[in-house]
Amino acid sequence: LPIVAIVGRPNVGKSTLFNRLVGKKLALVDDRPGVTRDRREGDAHLLGLDFRIIDTAGYEDEDPDTLPGRMRRQTEAAVSEADVALFLVDARAGVMPLDEEIARWLRSSDTPIVLAANKAEGRAAEQGILEALALGFGDPVQLSAEHGEGVGDLFEALLPFIDREVEEEEEVDLENPFAPLKLAIVGRPNAGKSTLINRFLGQDRLITGPEAGITRDSIAIDWEWHDRNGEVRQVRLIDTAGMRKKAKVQDKLEKLSVADALRAVDFAEVVVLLLDATLGLESQDLRIADRVLEEGRALLIALNKWDVAENPSSLFNGVRKALEDGLSQVKGVPLLAVSAATGKGLDTLIEAAFETRAAWSKRVPTGELNRWFERAVEANPPPAPGGKRIKLRYVTQVKSRPPSFVIFGTRVDQLPASYERYLVNSMRRELGFGAVPVRLTLRAPKN
Ligand code: GDP
Repeated sequence: LPIVAIVGRPNVGKSTLFNRLVGKKLALVDDRPGVTRDRREGDAHLLGLDFRIIDTAGYEDEDPDTLPGRMRRQTEAAVSEADVALFLVDARAGVMPLDEEIARWLRSSDTPIVLAANKAEGRAAEQGILEALALGFGDPVQLSAEHGEGVGDLFEALLPFIDREVEEEEEVDLENPFAPLKLAIVGRPNAGKSTLINRFLGQDRLITGPEAGITRDSIAIDWEWHDRNGEVRQVRLIDTAGMRKKAKVQDKLEKLSVADALRAVDFAEVVVLLLDATLGLESQDLRIADRVLEEGRALLIALNKWDVAENPSSLFNGVRKALEDGLSQVKGVPLLAVSAATGKGLDTLIEAAFETRAAWSKRVPTGELNRWFERAVEANPPPAPGGKRIKLRYVTQVKSRPPSFVIFGTRVDQLPASYERYLVNSMRRELGFGAVPVRLTLRAPKN
């Protein structure tokens, strides 16, 4: 059975919840003296889910002087065994220093944490629920163990961690490298988008020609690519050919190109910005690139028509430099030389697109994330404007695709943008995000 550990400071309602989940009368409570003196275990049942539950409440009547040390050992032992830890706080009492202390222990663990605010019924709980949010484990599940409220929400919150099938399904969606790659190819008219797609497909499904604006609408094409190991990988190509026609008719080329490119970008995981190597990088390209990154998509830049490029190496370096100077948000966006006409560099391009998607979809385990955070803040502590140090307390990844993080701390509104960039760049480098956009939000823990 999957294991859930209930952790939290004394009196938040761990035992009440334990009893409710295990069933008071039928409770199969292990109470082996010596071995599990500090905790109880039982088989829990929650709306059709079965799991083993560990309650770490046993130390509560111990000598208060030795409590924190014992609690920590108990909590950590239970959490390390568990598939998920249910961290309980008391919404009426609000977040206390000991809750924050426990949150710190939990943050260094790789076990997923579900936060629940107990005693959440009624208005008296509102402030406490807000405070709980600031612990950095996401929105707390609102519970009333005593009244049996919030059971459905608790079920939903625990489900991904204790139902293995659900868990696997989620991973297939988000992190499976073999899931179909949604790839958009954008670029100015005549960059070679249609030629590139035809090349990928090995057939003339799109019409290419020297004239801008032959094909009409954005289209999606499912396609199979064979990687280096001969594995078949699915690719869904999204083309934005439509932008050209409209652009010509309305003679508002720049505006429409960007808008249309972005429409395709909405459907894509990875976006390839195709440039014509004979023309180089123009401001409109940078604008498209910037918007792709702003939309939180992973970006690759391909220099097409490499077969006819003059002075290739200085051209490549020139574009590289212009990208570094021109793209303010993300440094080191991959730049690849390709030829849609000859096929050169195309396998490398698709391979890079799959790799970039993996980084974009990545979830960093809590422990690894916090170890990075401690290193980064120690190596370069935040400044102290007006003699008052800005304190950064902890970080949490709220989502992936794109990877998004919240850092909690005090006086964070005074943190210079340069320091935020330092953190984001350090995260990219050390946590393997490469050049994908990483989102960072700063929050003060209370209010
Ligand atoms: P799109 O507007 O971006 O779809 O561009 P097209 O695919 O229609 O290509 C525009 C022109 O560039 C056509 O004349 C293509 O034959 C040419 N072209 C595209 N890719 C390459 C390439 O890799 N090398 C060369 N030499 N010409 C290319």
